[in-house]
Order: sequence, then C-alpha cells, then structure tokens
Amino acid sequence: MTATRDFVQANRDRFLEELIAWLRIPSISADSAYKGDVVKAADWLVEKMEALGMSRVEKYATPGHPIVYAEKIIDDTRPTILVYGHYDVQPPDPMNLWNSPPFEPVIKDEKIYARGACDDKGQVYMHVKAIEALNEEGELPCNVKFIIEGEEEVGSVNLESFIKSYKDMLAADIILVSDTSMIANDTPSITVALRGMSYVEVEVVGPNRDLHSGVYGGAIANPVNVLCEMIASLKDATGRITVDGFYDKVIDLSAEDRAEMAKQPFDLSAYKAELGIAATGGGEDGYTPLERSSIRPTLDVNGIWGGYIGEGAKTVLPSKAAAKISMRLVPDQDPDEITALFKAHFEKIAPDTVKVSVHPHHGGKAAMVSTRSAGYQAAARAMETTFGKTPIPTREGGSIPIVALFKEVLGLETVLMGFGLHSDAIHSPNEHYGIFNYLKGIETIPYFHKYFAESK
Ligand SMILES: [Zn+2]
Repeated sequence: MTATRDFVQANRDRFLEELIAWLRIPSISADSAYKGDVVKAADWLVEKMEALGMSRVEKYATPGHPIVYAEKIIDDTRPTILVYGHYDVQPPDPMNLWNSPPFEPVIKDEKIYARGACDDKGQVYMHVKAIEALNEEGELPCNVKFIIEGEEEVGSVNLESFIKSYKDMLAADIILVSDTSMIANDTPSITVALRGMSYVEVEVVGPNRDLHSGVYGGAIANPVNVLCEMIASLKDATGRITVDGFYDKVIDLSAEDRAEMAKQPFDLSAYKAELGIAATGGGEDGYTPLERSSIRPTLDVNGIWGGYIGEGAKTVLPSKAAAKISMRLVPDQDPDEITALFKAHFEKIAPDTVKVSVHPHHGGKAAMVSTRSAGYQAAARAMETTFGKTPIPTREGGSIPIVALFKEVLGLETVLMGFGLHSDAIHSPNEHYGIFNYLKGIETIPYFHKYFAESK
C-alpha cells in the first residue's frame, strides 16, 4: 500500500516543478488579451498527456478557448473514469494585494502561491501525475478519459455543445472532479451536494418621471419604498420564503442525514469573528447555520438601486427602483419552475400604485451524489486509505452547473473529490495550494481507480 506514497515522495520535486511551469502561463479566460496564453496552457497540457502515453490526445477548438481531451483505453470490458477539470484561471486583480506576482509561483510555508495553484491547475495536474503513478505500478485498473476545458471561469459556455456532440467519445461509468475543497488536512471530506440557482432582476415603476418629494410626497407611492416592502414580504417572521409553491418540491433531509451532517466540525464563534458579526441570521428558524447555507433554499437581494445616491441631499421621489435577487435551490427544486413561481408571486403582491416586471437571468439545477453509490464509496475508501480517516460527506451552498449538465447529457454521476481548503484563497489575491494537499491528491487518486475497478 505504500508503493504509491513512495513513488510520490521520490518524485516530489519534479511534480512541483512541472506544476509551477504550468502555473507560469497566465491562462486568464475572461481577458481576450490572454487568448494566446490560454492556448499555450492547453498545448502544455497536451504535451504532458502525450508524454504520459495516453492512447489518444486531442485539442478541440471551440468558438472560445480549446478543450483538451485525452484517453487511455486498456480494455473495453473495464469501467471508464472520466476526469473533468479546467486549465483556465480567474483574473488576478486586484494586483496590489498579491504578496508575490500571480504568475511567478513561489513556495512559502509549504504552499505554492500562484493564480490557479488550487483552482484548478494544481488539482487537475494531480490526476495527470496519478496516471503516471499507476503506469509505474503496471496496467491501469480502469480506462481513463480526460476532458479539461479552458472556459470554466467564464461559465463553461461551449462545454454543453461539446459534450452533446461527443457523447459517444465521452461514454464512461463515472465522472471524477477535483475542483472543490475538503474540511481540513486532518479532516478529509467529499462534497455530495451542491445547490442550484434561480436569478432574477425585478423593476418597480411608479410615476412617469422623478418627482419633487415635497410637492408629491404623501400622494404618490414611492417605488423604492414599495420595492423594499415587497422584498421584505418575501420572507415571514420565521425566515420562511413566502413565494407560493416555493417549498413544494424541496426534499427535507432525514434526521439521520442531519445527524451525519452535524459531525462536521464547525466553530460558531470563529465563524462569527471571521465575518465581524455578532449573530448569524438570514435563514429559516429551526436550522443550524451550516444547514441554512447548504441543505435549505435561500432568497437574497444581490443588489438594489433607485433614486438619488450622489453626494449631499436631493429631494426626489424616484420614478423607478430595481433589484437583483438570487435564490439558491436544493433538490428537487427546478430552477425554471421557481423562476416562474417567483414571477407570478411578485406580480401578485404588487400594489396598484406601481407596475412591476421580472426578468430571469441564468439558473441551474441542484446536484446530489448518493453516499451509497459506487463512485462515492470508491472515493471514500481511497481517502480512508491515504488519510487514515473516513471522509465526511459535505453539502455545499454553491453551485457547479456542469454536474447537472453531465447528469443530463451523459447520464453520469459526478464524484467531487477535492483536495483544496477553503483558506486557499481561490479567486482572491494570494491563491495558494498546500504541497501536502497536492501530493496527497496524487497519492489518493490511484486508489480511487483501483477501488472503482473492484466495485464493477
Ligand atoms: Zn475551479
């Protein structure tokens, strides 16, 4: 069982050097000035995949940035693992907050500091090196396919049409993704649920122009006041969302699942101190902060505007007010259905004094992995083997729309076995990835391949 660990330790420096070389390429997908660098980062990966002895390596052009595909088919009768990840990175701004330049990686306190160190180049490259470790030991236990895209940070805009066009090529038994985090280095965990989303923009219009608040105030309803009252009414005194039909399809967690979840270490005073708040809030009564931010749906105003917001006082009764509202969803809420319910409800509660409109933005379905599935079991056993501890299944509040997409188009479950930490500052200045985490990932992934093969 120590062969993999020995191999990883013996090649530690080279594994770090290779990742650092990749991190030097500023593959910022959002900024067209870096288009050439994004391609360079894809080419770099193609070269490494070829060196790995994959049976097929391709770079697919898309209307945006390319997708790197690689596969090694050992035997058609064996199960196939499809690894998904992304080689593009977030813009590094604000630059002045970085302690070292984002694309000149440095190692400090056993961590690699660079944009993309954790999200997601570091986590993708663990999978490449894991195949190298498996090659070293002999034959791969499973067939393996890689789909590594260059547009995850800009909404994976060309991924859906790609996977639809190459459905056959991407056929597999499970999708394995390392693009999430675990609780702590001594508390491994696996993400089993992600929330979905419905996002709307609302507008409330009153009089046909801005009015003098002295001349008209008291006779004319103020759209900003009306919007605030309408938004306030979207939750009752217990924090329950009042949109008609909102909870109809919500799956309530069993007492057993909630007890399992409560095992997750959570320090409420540290949580409050870190955020500079005296008390938590914003959710439904009867649920813990962890539950409210993961297994329960939410409704939050993301932005609100209207009227005069310049310097000094201007006595105006504004003509309109608007807000952006996000609703995080849980299984089995359907984003389109929730958006429609919200629209109908918002229109219904509008007083006669104003006209309201609701514009839907993007949405996404919630996702869930069964802890009893073969994929989860293989991941849990793999982490148990290398960490010496059973991982805790965690439910996250955020959304990863590709998980629902894979389920819908390829009919496959996704295992989210991430090795990062919440403190890795992904998307922020000074992003980093622990050397421990990087090497532990390379050591753990081969066990996933072995255990998954055994289960089939
Ligand atoms: Zn990512």
